[in-house]
Formats: sequence, C-alpha cells, structure tokens
Amino acid sequence: MSIKISLVLLIVGILQNICFANDYKISKVPIKLSILAIQNGKTFDENWIVFKEAFKDTNVKLKSYSSKNLTDEIQAFNLAVSSGSLPDIISLAYPEKLESLGMDGGIIPLNDLIEKHAPNIKSFFKKYPRYKMDAVAADGNIYFIPDYYDWYAMRAAQGLFIRKDWINKLGLKIPETMEELYDVMIAFKTKDPNQNGKMDEIPYFERSSEFADKELIGLFGAEISFYVDENETVIFGPTTKRFKEAVPQIVKWYREGLIDPEIFTRGFQSRDYMLRNDLGGITFDWFASTESYNKDTELKEKVKDFEFIAIIPPMYAGKSYAPDARTTYLGGWGISATCKDPILAIKYFDYWFSDKGYELSNWGVENDTFIKDVNGKNKFTDTVIKSPGKTPLQVLREKGIQFRIGALQDYGYEKAWGSPTALEWAEMYMENGCVVDPMPTLKYTKDENRKIQKINSQLNTTVKEMNQKWILGAVDFDKTYDEFLKRLNEIGLKEAIEINQRAYERFMKNNKQ
Ligand code: CA
Repeated sequence: MSIKISLVLLIVGILQNICFANDYKISKVPIKLSILAIQNGKTFDENWIVFKEAFKDTNVKLKSYSSKNLTDEIQAFNLAVSSGSLPDIISLAYPEKLESLGMDGGIIPLNDLIEKHAPNIKSFFKKYPRYKMDAVAADGNIYFIPDYYDWYAMRAAQGLFIRKDWINKLGLKIPETMEELYDVMIAFKTKDPNQNGKMDEIPYFERSSEFADKELIGLFGAEISFYVDENETVIFGPTTKRFKEAVPQIVKWYREGLIDPEIFTRGFQSRDYMLRNDLGGITFDWFASTESYNKDTELKEKVKDFEFIAIIPPMYAGKSYAPDARTTYLGGWGISATCKDPILAIKYFDYWFSDKGYELSNWGVENDTFIKDVNGKNKFTDTVIKSPGKTPLQVLREKGIQFRIGALQDYGYEKAWGSPTALEWAEMYMENGCVVDPMPTLKYTKDENRKIQKINSQLNTTVKEMNQKWILGAVDFDKTYDEFLKRLNEIGLKEAIEINQRAYERFMKNNKQ
C-alpha cells in the first residue's frame, strides 16, 4: 500500500473517530444559553472545567445571567422574576418556588419535551419512579429536573457518637438500649471520665440547637413534625403516644444534668468546644465531620486516648432509630418561558443524564480530576486529593464538580474522597435499617401552598417553643400537654393534615402513572 493511500485511510479513520466522538453534539454551531444559578454564595462560572467540557461535547455554552457580586440566590431569583426578563435556564434550591413560577407561566412544563427529546431522562424516570415523583408538580407538570442525591445507595447522614475512651476508662460497655444509654450517661456524669477531679462532664450535647429536640426525641422513635405511618396515613408527631413517652424522658435527662444545660443556646461551636475541652460524651451529628476529630493532632495531644465512635442508636421498645436522614434531592433546574430554544435546552438537560454527563458532573474530566483504575473504577487524581491548603471538596467546587444543576449524584464520588471510617459507619446504619426516612417533599397546588405555609409556620413555632419549655423545666409536661394539643388544633392542624394527606396521595399516584 502506498504511503498516500495509508495517509488517506488514516485521515478517514480520524474523521470517523471524530464523528463517533461527537455523539453528544446538540447544535452544529456553538450556542449560548443564559443561566441563573448561585449555590453556597457562588455564582455559576462558565470557566469551570466541567462546563467547558460539556460545551466541547454539546456545542451548548451556559453563560451566567446574574453578576458575580450577587451571592444570594433568592434575591437574584426575585430580581429576575420582577424584572420580567428571565434567563433561559433557572437553577434554584427551592422547588416550590420553581413550581409556583411554573404555574404562573414563567417556567415551561417539560413533560412533552422529555417525552420527545430527552431519552436519558425518560429512561431514568422509568428506572427510578421515586425520582420521577420528586419532579412532578401538583398539577401533573414537570417544571424542573431535580438535582438528585444518590438516595438509593446512601440515605444515612448523621449518627450517634459516643466517647469510646470514656467507656473504656470506666469499664462500661456500649449501650444497646435506651435504658443502658441512660446508665452510661449517669456514669459519664458522676465518675469523672476526664479525670480532672471535677464533675464537669456533659454527657449529651448538640451542635445544632435548631434540631436538638428533634434528634433527642427521634432516638425514641418519636417525630416532631408530619410523617407518614405504615398505613400511608399522614400524622403529626407531637400528637402521638410515642411523643408523650419520649418528651418526659428527655425532661428527666435534662433535670439530672445529663444534657448540656445550654443545649438550645450554645450554638454551632459546641461540638468543637465540648470535644476540645474533653467535656462532652455523646452527640448526634454528621458522620464525616464528627469522625474527623479522631484525626485532629492538636486534640489528640491534649486528650491522648480520645476516641469518638458512631454506634447504632440504642434500641427503644425493640427498635433503633436514626433521625435526620438524607432526602432524595436538593433543588434543580427548569427552562423559562422566554427561553430562545426549549428543545435545545431540554437536550442539554438530557446530556447530564448520559453516561458522559453523569461522570462529568460527579468526577470532572478524565486524566485531569480523575482517572480510571485497572478495574474501570474512578479515582480522583492528586489535583483533587492533595491540593495544598484545600480540602478535596473545595477543589471539586472550584471546578464546578457537583454544582447544583439537574443531575444524579454518584455515591462513589463521596467514597473517593471521604473518610473510610465515616463511610463504614454510614453503611453500618444502612445495613442495620435504623435510618428513619423523612416524609417526601410534598407538592401543593397554589391554594394549598398558601394555606399550608401559614399553618406550618405556626405549628413549628408552637412545637419548638413548648419543647424547649418542657425540656428546660420551665413548665410541666403533663400539666400543659392537653392545652398544647388544643393550641395545635386552633392553629389549624386538622386542615394541615388533610392537605398533606391529599398531597401525599397525589404524590404516590404520580408514581403509578
Ligand atoms: Ca471531670
């Protein structure tokens, strides 16, 4: 074969390869779509490698609609809506706002567009009915594609942590029932496990004063708000027998000094304070960040044997309960009514559900932020893992990886940079079956939404206020509980339950379509 012919064949081969590699092209010519997207105070940046790579693949380039100085997404969203000139695409953490704009005509329904132009999203919804339910509004339309967590793979978020070194020091065993937990707390309180000769230990503390009561009563399997029971009935936790059992126990713990006296006021730094000063024994908190205290050299120097481990929540009435689990998604993105080319936009949305888009949104660009090992498993490169002065998550964020669009998170991404011990504990919770799933984010009609927002905010305030009064011993639980129930009814609890029951049934019905 002459050199010329082989050269021609080579060129033909290259051209063919280019054609095949261009599977993801959406437009023949480069096209720009504007996007409103701000997450954690960071405005969308077209220079992030994730979106540059997506542009290379699709020929669609996203351009930020809002100025970099605007860091509040709600403010930016409200500005855009009131200005009357919307961007092509809107990404937001608040699904109810996207849907309400959709019902007002500002965002278009995607149902037909998905049917005709988004084969990846279509098959994704078919494969995961629950994920589809999260996308469907009360009127049956899909106004946004959610940004999904890898919910089927991991739902545990927080765990019950206990000072293993204190347990060892006092010759105790890991508590397996709530009664045993009580005994351990009494020992922590009275037997000086920090060995300073003072009774200064605080057996149970909480960093999140906002959720402290929810988590404490949650360990007893009681709920602080609406939930759905095994008969698919919507119930308001504080009206149940279990709630009536749980609160007095917490009241007792508090009275006996087993709970941080400042649990509702100490605030976000309390975990740091309690652990670094060798004062705190037990808490309920996020696996990864709490586990990381075990590797803190400064802390280890001060408290030599320090060991804070997650345990399966002790059983109450024969069952373990881990409150505060992951939800299925957080926010998502939709296409505005003024979008120049909705078909192009839905095709671009669909790209993120292709194999390539899925990998890109979770891992970034191959041979830059990740590589594949011999088994084809993805691994982050040192660019991500060993960036000086930055955590892997910070690096990922700076590259647009895991930025909130409408996509599916890959739990593997968390495994690739997270602490193996923390992940083991999260998986232990999953295997044990103790994770208490929250009620799905229900979808309301405009009318329902107006009513439920008003009732909910009053219910929450009342429950919060009374819980604190009871726990802190300001008022007697038994003497005030009936009055409390009466107050809930006056606020409109019955109507809220009816609305939620209807919304829940509608939500489940969408699953069956
Ligand atoms: Ca002490």
